[in-house]
Amino acid sequence: MTHQTTCCYCGVGCGIVVKQEANGRLTVEGDKQHPSNKGMLCSKGMNLHYTVMDQSDRLLYPQMRLNRNMPMQRVSWDAALERTAAVFRTFIQKYGPDSVAFYVSGQCLTEEYYLVNKLIKGFIGSNNIDTNSRLCMSSAVVGYKLSLGEDSVPVCYDDIEEADVFLVQGANPAWCHPIIWRRIEAHKAANPNVKIICVDPRKTDTARSSDLHLPIRPGTDIVLNNAIGRLLIENGDIDVDFITNHADGFTAYSEQVMQRTLDEAAEICGINADGIRQAADWIGRSKGFLSLWTMGLNQSVIGVNKNLALINLHLITGRIGKPGNGPFSLTGQPNAMGGRETGGLANVLPAHRDVTNAAHRAEVEAFWNSPVKIASKPGLTATEMFEALGNTSLKAIWIINTNPLVSMPDVNAVEKALKNARFVVVQDVSSRADTVQFADVVLPAAAWLEKEGTMTNAERRIAHLPKVLDAPGEALPDSEIIWRFARKMGFGDAFPYENTSEVYDEYAQLTAGTNVDITGVNYALLKEKRTIQWPYRKGEGRKEGREEGTKRLFTDHTFYTPNGRAQIHAVPDENTSEPTDADFPLVLTTGRIRDQWHTMTKTGRVAKLNQHSPQPFLQIHPDDARARNIEEGQLIEVRGRRGEVRVKAQLTDDVRPGLCFLPMHWGKVLSGKSGESNLNRANNLTNALVDPRSKEPDFKFSAVEVVPF
Ligand code: SF4
Repeated sequence: MTHQTTCCYCGVGCGIVVKQEANGRLTVEGDKQHPSNKGMLCSKGMNLHYTVMDQSDRLLYPQMRLNRNMPMQRVSWDAALERTAAVFRTFIQKYGPDSVAFYVSGQCLTEEYYLVNKLIKGFIGSNNIDTNSRLCMSSAVVGYKLSLGEDSVPVCYDDIEEADVFLVQGANPAWCHPIIWRRIEAHKAANPNVKIICVDPRKTDTARSSDLHLPIRPGTDIVLNNAIGRLLIENGDIDVDFITNHADGFTAYSEQVMQRTLDEAAEICGINADGIRQAADWIGRSKGFLSLWTMGLNQSVIGVNKNLALINLHLITGRIGKPGNGPFSLTGQPNAMGGRETGGLANVLPAHRDVTNAAHRAEVEAFWNSPVKIASKPGLTATEMFEALGNTSLKAIWIINTNPLVSMPDVNAVEKALKNARFVVVQDVSSRADTVQFADVVLPAAAWLEKEGTMTNAERRIAHLPKVLDAPGEALPDSEIIWRFARKMGFGDAFPYENTSEVYDEYAQLTAGTNVDITGVNYALLKEKRTIQWPYRKGEGRKEGREEGTKRLFTDHTFYTPNGRAQIHAVPDENTSEPTDADFPLVLTTGRIRDQWHTMTKTGRVAKLNQHSPQPFLQIHPDDARARNIEEGQLIEVRGRRGEVRVKAQLTDDVRPGLCFLPMHWGKVLSGKSGESNLNRANNLTNALVDPRSKEPDFKFSAVEVVPF
């Protein structure tokens, strides 16, 4: 049997063909018909079948305990969900609806996201649902909203082959979005005039194969982009017609960027002014200018302003809404986009509606026939949720398919909060999820290939994922767990579903008339066409050129802002991250390595993937190491204001002096005689500072010191 599905790791959203042999053995290969990856897969995708076939760590049965001193006991689904419903009802009656929360994941399918949102926002009456996309994309979301009017990626992957200048900033697609990078490399190989500019304090594989690497000091991206903006203006490389007819804010922007000279900007960024001149020159002369970014811009206390400073370069040059041009935020999780579309953030309602907008709330309440008013106040965001759990204002948290005990910033505080929490539900595939140890109720979920649903990738491309295998034990699809729970809460009339197709159809109806309108999409069409890019309105399939959906947005240069004009923002360029000092003089940045995915609950089980970097390490510049008597491979302690980490040192000039890099993947590990150790956890060191608007944490900038251990 052969099945077409989508990779469940990253937002590239590669198509995969799964073959099931008669003996049950699975193989995977890239889907040559899929427009995103055209048959290519990276090392993670190529080894996906091993994560399905190895079921040694699977959660198989619902479990619960009446208090934390008791062992977990296997119970029936009814018992687990009835107890959870009873506890939730008690807290809601006693402390109000905001005493409970759901923390979900960009791994969730669109239907799952939709159901959790409907339950808590429309039926419990709280906006306390947030997702790990908050840790990943929320600065890009706010950046798009402020500049283009809505969280809408304007470009598509086919723009890669149309562009001649790429600005890759705060991203390492060579490792983290490999199939996009392979398309860029192939395009450059066929067109040697193509230029790639990489902005990154680290000399990554992406930087190595770029034409120009600008290794700026951490936190200085806005200074750099404003300097490029100034040069574009001075060189006459702006699009006056576009600015006049389609954008607001140019005068204030121009005044802002003129405040720093090029030399001053170069000095602040710690790079040569010639590099900035070269970047501006290439961008100014480009026919197709595509910028790609991820966590280096997003995971910052000034993440929204970093996004705006980059998008500004497209708006002043008019390089948006036409082939090969536009800002392109590379998505981390496979369905971060689908989650955002259904309202999976604490401040959003389905189809990018806003919880603070009374008309939007009224539309959704009426559609759901909600028994409660949707709250007008945004709910708790990811970091706020664990803070509230720590100070006991939040009584119960339900964690779905994410592992905050490794992935959250200042993770020691998160661990303390979970330890002291009144009630924790963990819904997951794997017993390796570190949160399981603090759960009062554990709910076993079906994994990739074991459930049906849809996802949206980074280019707004919706794909259908079929159910190929039965889940082991009593594990259930996440959608079914949520609708069964909703029924236990007494909301059965509104959660009558028998399959996820019904959930999808309901969600699609709720998008009618919005900019995310997918009323023309249903499972039957997705199975026939394989993928569709939103928006795709009812009847769209009959229109010429729209059969596969919408490749690009804003092609008529009308934006989703109230006046239809894009907004250029003059943004301050100062960084407000945690300051370094004599005790903690180095800046720590965290990130991913080539063959691991997030907290390694899947990739950590695949022997082939563990060969690339089997142990965590700290990259430190040789000058900084020498000053501390640290040698290559030596065990060192990284100390910060909130905790420490012990790993081996890797001396390399791939990091700037003053900067060190630690992978974010490792959690608690067994450590010889001393038993369990969490001293590999990068997030022992990171801080809970967040961007004031996006509430995205500042993972890329923490003050530390490094000493031999
Ligand atoms: Fe999967 Fe991303 Fe690799 Fe594609 S690039 S195979 S979606 S991990």
